[in-house]
Amino acid sequence: MKHISIAIDGPAGAGKSTLARQVAEKLGYAYVDTGAIYRTIGLFLQICGVSPKDTDGIARLIDEAAIRVEYDEAGAQHMFLNDQDVTAELRTPDLSDYASKISAQPLVREVLLDLQRNLAATRNVVMDGRDIGTVVLPKADVKIFLTASPEVRARRRLLEMQEKGDKKASFEKVLADIRQRDDRDMHRAVAPLKCAHDAVKVDTSDLTLEESAAALLAVIEKRLGL
Ligand code: C5P
Repeated sequence: MKHISIAIDGPAGAGKSTLARQVAEKLGYAYVDTGAIYRTIGLFLQICGVSPKDTDGIARLIDEAAIRVEYDEAGAQHMFLNDQDVTAELRTPDLSDYASKISAQPLVREVLLDLQRNLAATRNVVMDGRDIGTVVLPKADVKIFLTASPEVRARRRLLEMQEKGDKKASFEKVLADIRQRDDRDMHRAVAPLKCAHDAVKVDTSDLTLEESAAALLAVIEKRLGL
């Protein structure tokens, strides 16, 4: 049976995960957060103490990381690292930075490719990331490139951090981190973040979350003929 794949790519803070999750729920598809997959391998390598630039060190260690994706009854994605559920440990700013650095390593990307493709081969998915429409699922039924200005993304990220009780975060620091991560994700040699030629671009800078979700669903329904 052919499964439907919806690829949503874009920079950090464009609202990909929130929107992809909502859209997946609405369609009854699985939501695959590939950033969490990169963060899981990042967590493993960070615990090992390997520098993100140490290609040989990464090559020596990477086979020791058994990464598994599971979904609970509510449809939430859980990441397992060597049989331990590490989902709650993945969203620290420190790991965001480390994961972004190791994701520029071709071997890391290669190791994670099959895992992501297998998820899409066995179910209908809404998959979000940086290279889903360009590399992981080049034949995805629908491709969306979700973006927003760096300032808007930084403001949203700051709000999210403040809601989680982070009182120290400043707008300038969050904006600088976002710009740095964008730059790294867009300029790496392998699978850089870019809009696929057949993707529909959706800019959420001036849209609320509800309006963004409606815009995504409109694109998907049109493409799938729903
Ligand atoms: O989306 P999220 O911020 O959780 O992703 C963490 C990092 O993983 C990103 O900065 C990016 O460098 C990397 N990533 C990637 N390809 C993907 C998903 C994430 O390179 N498909």
